[in-house]
Amino acid sequence: MKRQLIGLTHYERISSMGRYSNISENAEQAMSIKYNTIVYDLKRKGVKVLVMSLGEAFFDVPLYSFAELPISEIYHYSHSLGIPELRKKLADYFLKQYSIPLNSDKEILITSGSKIAIYMALMAILNPGDEVVVQEPCWVSYPEQIKLAYGIPVQIPYDRSIYDYEKYITPRTKAIIINNPHNPTGYVYTKEEITYLLELAAKHNIWLLSDEAYSDFVMDGKFISPGSIDKEKNHTIIFNSISKNFGISGWRLGYIISNEKMIHNVLKINQHLITCPATILEYYVLNYFEKILSYTVPMMKELHEKRKAVAAYMKDIGLECLPGSATFYFFVSIIPTKLTSEEFCTRLLTEEYISVVPGLGYGYSCDKFVRISIGTSKLDEIKCGLDKIKEFIIKTS
Ligand code: PMP
Repeated sequence: MKRQLIGLTHYERISSMGRYSNISENAEQAMSIKYNTIVYDLKRKGVKVLVMSLGEAFFDVPLYSFAELPISEIYHYSHSLGIPELRKKLADYFLKQYSIPLNSDKEILITSGSKIAIYMALMAILNPGDEVVVQEPCWVSYPEQIKLAYGIPVQIPYDRSIYDYEKYITPRTKAIIINNPHNPTGYVYTKEEITYLLELAAKHNIWLLSDEAYSDFVMDGKFISPGSIDKEKNHTIIFNSISKNFGISGWRLGYIISNEKMIHNVLKINQHLITCPATILEYYVLNYFEKILSYTVPMMKELHEKRKAVAAYMKDIGLECLPGSATFYFFVSIIPTKLTSEEFCTRLLTEEYISVVPGLGYGYSCDKFVRISIGTSKLDEIKCGLDKIKEFIIKTS
């Protein structure tokens, strides 16, 4: 053993000595976070970058007083399902907004962001080697989270239809994940599609995991959650987030909605991993729920109009993207460039100072796409950026 190690670097020696798990060694970095980290570094050096890679919209939500919050509670752990009053507030909101009835004592758990909620749900349903079906482009963390829960992601190429999903279901399949509305395309699922997926879940006795982190970005009441059809939540697990819908991603508050048994199993995992989210922030959101929404809702409407203007501009200059109508993301084709999406994004960043995210992060079938976010830059700057992206595609063809 010792002799074989001669000639290896220090890093290789340590990893070949089995100090790290295969699962962590083989995990991929989140592509969006990787590129945004480069942007933060460049900005710190004073480089001006047009940022179209960030996964958020900047809403100017004012800071309300923390002094109003109950001092006897805020410094301490809270209930491991989340504080009852906030659970009740969310349950009322879900009924009114999305027609989803839920028992706030048993069917919802608030935790530190929806990312960990999704992972804990995967831990609650997967045995080693179980499969989870997800279509590309898929949010960067689904395949990695499935693997971290000892499951196998079965990734469907981007050009297949929802009605093809059944071909990918095997006796090992435990779940299908959808993201509605969709990051990175902005696609909003129709009632027919959601109904079909629920029928598929019932037929094969599997779960439909519905990640609804951007639900409030869908205008005109067009958002349909499986929870409004599968009211007993026999096959449905919903994830939602205070991050995007409330414009406070850094506060790490998210939640999971499902039937009592599922929530109980996730609760046990939550008790061992998280305990509870930051109590003070739960109270803050509870106290200022309506006030925060009174800021974010009009801004989301503005963003929706901005999205329409960007879509029209892309059409004018001949940039193509996958179908979508909500959120602040576009998944844009870079065909006919000769570059891979990573080469394209790295060169676009270092030569043109524009940051977008490589499509490869969203699946192998997506290497001729990039994700563009319009959440943080002004419309004129975005148009300028799109012109440069178009030129860069031509230059690298
Ligand atoms: N799902 C999707 C599709 C996302 O884009 C994100 C954040 N980028 C999350 C879940 C996680 O959100 P959070 O943990 O901030 O609630």
